Amino acid sequence: MKRVLVTGAGGFIGHHLTKYLADRGHWVRGVDIKVPEYDGTRANEFELLDLRRWANCLQATRGIDEVYNLAANMGGIGFIHAHKAEIMHDNVLINMHMLEAARLNGARRYLYTSSACVYPGYRQNSAEVIPLKEEDAYPADPEDGYGWEKLFSERQCRHYWDEYRLETRVVRFHNIYGPLGTYDGGREKSPAAICRKVALVEDGDEIEVWGDGEQTRSYCYIDDCVEGIHRLMRSEHRDPLNLGSDRLVTVNELVDIVARVADKTVRRRHDLTKPQGVRGRNSDNSKLRAVLKWEPATTLEEGLAVTYAWIRSMLEKAGRVKKALATAS
Ligand code: NAD
Repeated sequence: MKRVLVTGAGGFIGHHLTKYLADRGHWVRGVDIKVPEYDGTRANEFELLDLRRWANCLQATRGIDEVYNLAANMGGIGFIHAHKAEIMHDNVLINMHMLEAARLNGARRYLYTSSACVYPGYRQNSAEVIPLKEEDAYPADPEDGYGWEKLFSERQCRHYWDEYRLETRVVRFHNIYGPLGTYDGGREKSPAAICRKVALVEDGDEIEVWGDGEQTRSYCYIDDCVEGIHRLMRSEHRDPLNLGSDRLVTVNELVDIVARVADKTVRRRHDLTKPQGVRGRNSDNSKLRAVLKWEPATTLEEGLAVTYAWIRSMLEKAGRVKKALATAS
């Protein structure tokens, strides 16, 4: 039985990953600055620690074989645009301290969770995108703030392998979504925000969409994400690897899928003053398939049906959607 550490275990992906690893017989220590918001943790031990602090990273990594480092100060496009200094400050401290603490405490493997935000802006100016291969990250021009920190920490993982032989793995997520993710309050990502907006309106009403809605993305369901993480950690692949779906949709299409799931007709009101991020982005999964002999399988329709139902039930519990109305729709 391995002793594993999941940081960010109070957050969306970390919470699901903790459950996945516990279900497979690992002893799991979860660490976060907050407890999971929507569900009890499955971790054997859960510690509330601020991982920007060096001493806390040493405490978190004591007696641990493998580190899954998911803790980060992050959010959707609105949040990462508005808080660049705070995000770079916090995440550089977390990741530099966590790598060094894992090394000093003798961890054997270390996962760093990077992002599609490392890919250069100049490859993402059009909605009709060429899917992004791992090597496209250079010459570098990542998302300002959040993306620069991810690229910097990716490189530090490689240096820790080169210099100290710490086995590092680097995964680049492309828009992960699913139940138990933030859906309100300013940090939510587009699938959760759209599910919330659709749940809150009556049949035939309109919802606000950021930008003209013709920006394109791919979206990956959480169950595929945690399976991919686990497979990568078991592999011998040390270079960064995409983990996402390669089905490209516009944000307008995403709204239409959610509306179909909710069985509502929804009109879109586009707010062009709101940030929309890059114009188009998709994942090239050639390397993912070659390395892991696997790729994400959940369709967007299946994943959004589960996600929408969960967000709607949360809004019902909070008294923001009438139960009778929600059940009827
Ligand atoms: P999340 O915000 O739900 O989880 C991150 C967790 O880190 C939160 O629970 C937060 O409290 C915790 N945290 C923040 N600062 C901390 C600190 N100082 N000390 C301890 N814990 C702290 O986000 P998520 O979607 O679960 O993302 C997990 C990882 O995956 C992050 O590194 C994120 O950058 C990366 N990622 C996620 C996506 C996505 O689509 N969700 C895409 C690309 C990359």
